[in-house]
Order: sequence, then C-alpha cells, then structure tokens
Amino acid sequence: MNVWPLQFRKIGENDLLFSDDSGSFFRSDDLFLDRYIQGALTHEDAEFLAYNGQAFETDGDFAFSGFASRWAKRINTAGDLSYFILVPTLRCNLMCDYCQVSRAAENASGFDWDRDTLEQVINLLDKQKANQVKVEFQGGEPLLRLDLLDAIRNFCRSRFEAAEFVVCTNLQTVSEEAWQFLEAPDTHVSTSFDGTSKFHLKQRTKTTTVQRQFEANLDVALTRLGVDRVSALPTIDPSDCPDPAAVIHAFAARSLTSIYLRRINYQGFARKKYGFDSALVDWRQYYRRFIAALIEYNTTADVPMEEYYLTHILRRILQSGHNNHVDLRNPNWLGKDLLVIDFNGQLYPTDEARMVSRIGKIDLSIGSLEDGIDANRVATLNSNVSNFDDPDCVHCAYKAYCGLDPIDDLSRYGRVDLPRHQTDHCKSHLDLFDYAFSLLYSADPTVQKSLAIWIGVPNYNPKIAPRTL
Ligand code: SF4
Repeated sequence: MNVWPLQFRKIGENDLLFSDDSGSFFRSDDLFLDRYIQGALTHEDAEFLAYNGQAFETDGDFAFSGFASRWAKRINTAGDLSYFILVPTLRCNLMCDYCQVSRAAENASGFDWDRDTLEQVINLLDKQKANQVKVEFQGGEPLLRLDLLDAIRNFCRSRFEAAEFVVCTNLQTVSEEAWQFLEAPDTHVSTSFDGTSKFHLKQRTKTTTVQRQFEANLDVALTRLGVDRVSALPTIDPSDCPDPAAVIHAFAARSLTSIYLRRINYQGFARKKYGFDSALVDWRQYYRRFIAALIEYNTTADVPMEEYYLTHILRRILQSGHNNHVDLRNPNWLGKDLLVIDFNGQLYPTDEARMVSRIGKIDLSIGSLEDGIDANRVATLNSNVSNFDDPDCVHCAYKAYCGLDPIDDLSRYGRVDLPRHQTDHCKSHLDLFDYAFSLLYSADPTVQKSLAIWIGVPNYNPKIAPRTL
C-alpha cells in the first residue's frame, strides 16, 4: 500500500489534524504520527487510510484516480477574461471614515470617464473571447453616472450570450430612473450596511437625516428588487465593534440571510486614519463571538443565517471545485480572468491593487486602455500566486483549502517573500481554518445544526469529520 504525503497540525488539546494535497483530512493523535513517520502503520491504520482516500495500491487504480480527480479540481485554472470591475466615476456623495478608494468630492471634475474612455472600454469588452460576462460597477458612487452604466449594460446585453451586472452603491440618493435601471432581472445591488443603524451612522452617514435616507432606500431596494438581488456588507472596525446579536437582528429584520463580515481593510483614507496594524487579535475574538451568536440564533430561527466567508471556507474544506471566489483560490492568478478599469483608464488585476496604487504606495497597474495590458507586468505579478511551491505553505495542513494574496502582501509589507506565518493573510487564515475545523469536530448539536445548514445538507453526519479509532 502507498500512502499519499500527509501534512499535520495540532488541533485541540491532544489531537492532530492530518490532510493531504487533495484536501481529504482526518483527526488522530501523536501515536499515529509516530507510526506514520516510522513507517510502522498497523493493519487498522492502513484500512482507515484506504477508506479515507489517503492510500492506493497501484498507479491508476480507483483510489489513485479518485485522489487525482479531487486534487485536480482544487486547482484554479486561469479562465478567459470575463469579470470586469468598472469605475466610471471616482466621485461620491458620502465621505465614509474608511473609504477604501480615496474617492473624489461629488462636484469635482476630471474623475469620470469621458466619451473616448467609454468607447475604449466598449472596444475592450468587444474583443473578449468569453461568451459570458460579469460586470461590477464600482466607484465612487456609480449611480452618479447612470448614463455610463446604461451604455455598458446595453452593449454587454447585445454582445454576450449571458451578462450579469452588479452595482456597488451606497444607496444614498437613488432617482426613479436609477430604480428602474436597478430593477432589471440581470442586475444586482451590493451595498454597505455596517451592522446596525448606530454604527452605520457613525462610520458613514454622520447625520440622522442621511441615515434615514439610506435605510429607506435599502428597504425600497429589498422590496422592489427582492432579497435575492440585494446584498448588504458590513465593514467592522475591530477596535469598536457592534454587538453580534444586534447585527444579526438588524439583518434578519430585513430578511437578509447572508452576512459577509469584513474587517476594515486599511487602504485609501482608512490607512491614513487608522494606521498600519489591523488589530488582528481583536478581530479574531470578535469573529468567534459573532459566529457563536449566529449558531445560537440558528437553533430557533425559522429562517437561518450564514456568515458568507465561513461558509465558503467550510465548502472549500469539504469539497473540491470551489474556485470562484477571487479572495481565496489557488493559484490566485492575477490579470487573467478579472480586470479592473479605473476612472482614468488605468487597468488593475484586482480592486485592492487599484486602491494600493491610488494611495501612491506602489504602482500595481497592469496597463491602460490606451496601451493595452502589459504582459510583462502581469507575468511578474503571477510569479508568486501559488502555494504549491511556497516554502512554508508546502508543509501546511491547510494548503489544499488556502491560497495566496500577493496584492495584500505588497500592500502591507511591500514584498511577497516574507515567511508566510509573518503575513496577515496567513495568520488570519490559519486562525479561520483552525476555527472551521473546531466546528467540524464539535460534538455540540447546536453547532452541528448550523454546520448542516451552511454546507447544504439535511443533517450533520459525523462522517464528514473522520477520525482514526
Ligand atoms: S498561507 Fe498560511 S494558512 Fe495558507 S497554506 Fe500557506 S501557510 Fe497555510
């Protein structure tokens, strides 16, 4: 019998988590580790490993092919360019504390696409090989240039077999014309709602009048578009967090069932105001308190709720093929399937790269509408996007589920070659995976109930979290 290489990590008091490159995992102890290292596995060990997909007899047998299939589906292949984040204007009608893009004032000039830029964007879209497209309108506040959104959407609808649009808006001022634009079935709204009215007012709207205006528009959006086409994302300041139960209640009151908790990403004005350190410890504690409150809520709720990123992590642990979320995939190709087009025609591989460049820390642009995509810059950025050959990740038990974030590394440290465990991305993901596995192996029926909901099965089955005898 051959055993695939196993990585391991201490979890809980006395146990170790073992995993392989295809993402199969199990829980065992030091005694198993000794036997594995010394090549002294027992008959029972061998039977368990074969049953759990970690062993095979010969190249190409069913066990071997099963492993290869699971492993291959975990690899994010660079697809055709089909996801565009467009910034038709940098102007905004709010001045949030932690604006991540260093927006321009609402009445400023020189921060919108002109007619030539619009034409260049359309030409670029027209050249794509993909027969479907997703367009996310960012800003600034994109609804300030409804005419540009309309022109892009009309073009995409006629050019591509399938087209989907997301308008990232603060929902502060929405004209009837804008509502009619948003009501189209192929168009979604993504807005920010910082957990509770109190925190949203403090961090974004500043006055009760403006706050009321936002909440009224959020309610109109949910009524006119339906909850399935509206997402509201809270940005949390780890040093001053809303009560988790209050956030859950505020979302449930609006029939929103998915909360994507995000801590402040210190970029743009946020970096200037809050400094460099992202208070990771405070955030971890808050995140766990939040999930605990969510689990408690789900024990009795008629309509249960999820935290989006935890659900994504659980799905990546349990199944191959969840490679669609650009924040966590491996390799995390840059400038391939996703392109950001800024208000001034500059091109970026991600929205974070645009923000980092905007504050003047480092230029992460990969070309311009005038000159096209710079293949050399794209190749340079892609030299460090895979954890397969990272000297630290290769030993990590979470390698199969994780990925790299070179833009975040460049943004925080100005380099991509720090030892992994010194990076914010690695520290936060080690903690997230530790937490996810503690939930998967929990004997608490309330945890198991939420787990089943989040991973989409009728009931929790202990077999999803195997352990040796
Ligand atoms: S970044 Fe950190 S958590 Fe992710 S695979 Fe690498 S070592 Fe593991």
